[in-house]
Amino acid sequence: MHYFTPRRCPGSAKIMYHDQAKAAKAAERSYIERGTRLWVYRCGICGSWHLTSHDPSLYDPAIREGGRRAKPRSRKRGYKPRRR
Ligand SMILES: [Zn+2]
Repeated sequence: MHYFTPRRCPGSAKIMYHDQAKAAKAAERSYIERGTRLWVYRCGICGSWHLTSHDPSLYDPAIREGGRRAKPRSRKRGYKPRRR
């Protein structure tokens, strides 16, 4: 079978999607066809959209906040001052 050759990101070698909708559609298809859940994210290198098999919220503390994931380890909370 013949596959079209998509453009790839110079930074991550991932397939570049021109807009978010296209990437989202590709992610949906992958889920239907392969059962692989993919996330869409905006690339800082090429400025287009990519898919990732890792939930980006696992890496981004801003997203994770309020999420249902286990708490990230905090280095700042080693002790509690007992004043007052
Ligand atoms: Zn990129």
